[in-house]
Amino acid sequence: MITPLYDLHGRQHSYLRVSLTDRCNLHCLYCNPRNHEVNYIPNGDLLTYDEIYRLIALFTGTFGFNKIRFTGGEPLVRNGVWDFLQSLQGLRKNSPFALGLTTNGTLLPGLVPRLLRAGVNRLNISLDSLREENFLSITGSGSFKAVLQAVQEAESAGFETLKVNCVVLRGTNDQELHAFVELTKKMRLIVQFIEFMPFSGNKWGTEGFISCNEMKDVINSIYELVPFRTDMGSDYFKVAGHVGAIRFISALSDHFCGSCNRLRLSADGKLRLCLFSSEDSLIDLKALLRSGATDTELEQKIQSSIGRKWAKHPSAETIETQYSQNMVKIGG
Ligand code: SAM
Repeated sequence: MITPLYDLHGRQHSYLRVSLTDRCNLHCLYCNPRNHEVNYIPNGDLLTYDEIYRLIALFTGTFGFNKIRFTGGEPLVRNGVWDFLQSLQGLRKNSPFALGLTTNGTLLPGLVPRLLRAGVNRLNISLDSLREENFLSITGSGSFKAVLQAVQEAESAGFETLKVNCVVLRGTNDQELHAFVELTKKMRLIVQFIEFMPFSGNKWGTEGFISCNEMKDVINSIYELVPFRTDMGSDYFKVAGHVGAIRFISALSDHFCGSCNRLRLSADGKLRLCLFSSEDSLIDLKALLRSGATDTELEQKIQSSIGRKWAKHPSAETIETQYSQNMVKIGG
């Protein structure tokens, strides 16, 4: 029997983002800057694949979660990830759920069919620039061509949804908004323009921040964005004649907390109620798992914890000074 997981604000939760690792092979300025020290999770503290499997079975089987997305760090750098993805097929026969992956795409060329065979039907690839030298200065990596190839292979492979994640930074890649819109002309994918959010060590500031409204104004100076769908509180747009679409993630300027249906699980087994939750408010599911908790005990812990979820996240200024942790550790 399914027990829907409601918080005290009437929001049903049905989507779990699972970080498989806090390691990443890129050093994006806004996420995992090279000079910023990260206390990596020791291997023994990572949830094992069996533990992740058990928690996914619980969230989907007991609470009726219908969407699981793997992220990181870079999920594809974790050893054994391909066999793990494949192993979820059995679970999905009992309780069907959409399976997503967010990746930087660097390790994907040639492996897209394997992803589909493993049942991943929603793929997000991060790509912040369509210019090689800009990509290098944002990510610190020379893998631009590999990521572009991954996007091209994914586009012709037929995922249920394929999104390109682009964090827009003023003075860095905001000159490329039109080029990203142009990408949707022939490619059947959704470009997600994401507002730059404050996390530890990423030098967030109002100078680098550009709101979704401003992005829309820039784009509308050349293209006409036509709204066609709203999902999870954010709007989708199309440009006439383009096969792809555009979405704006305005987490700071116009938060969509009212429709939040997601929880996050860190690579070391901490359940996070909100992207901006403080570290001391996380729920340690790994400790419970490793102390021999039964499924009922785990369920009760999750159910009692959800009551602490905020109605909305704090302001950017508060987040910056009090709650920051970077995305590579949280699991974006
Ligand atoms: N390595 C994978 C990737 O690159 O997509 C998955 C992890 S990454 C942390 C997931 C997403 O987090 C990326 O698409 C990136 O857009 C987003 N992200 C990270 N830091 C961010 C920030 N400061 N502001 C907005 N989005 C951020």
